[in-house]
Amino acid sequence: MARSLHFGKSVHDNGWGMFTTFLKYKLEDQGKQLIRIDKWYPSSQTCSVCGYKNPETKDLGMREWDCPNCKSHHDRDLNAAINIRKLSSLNK
Ligand SMILES: [Zn+2]
Repeated sequence: MARSLHFGKSVHDNGWGMFTTFLKYKLEDQGKQLIRIDKWYPSSQTCSVCGYKNPETKDLGMREWDCPNCKSHHDRDLNAAINIRKLSSLNK
C-alpha cells in the first residue's frame, strides 16, 4: 500500500524509462545503437581537425579558439558538435 503514496513519482520514472526503451528500440530497428556520450568527454576542448586537446578552452567564457597545433579556428560549440558527431559515427 505504501507504494501507492509515491504513485506520481513512479509514473514519471516509468514514463522516462519507457521513452528511452522506445528510443533504443527504434534506433536498433534502423541498425543503429543508442549512443551514450561520457559527460566528461572534452568535446569542446578537442580540436575537431587534428584531435589536439586544448586545456585553455575549459573557460566557458571562451567562445572561439585557435588550435595551437594545426592553426584551425574554432567556434567552441560548433567544434564540440563536430566532435560528438565523429564520436557517434565511431559507435555505429
Ligand atoms: Zn588542430
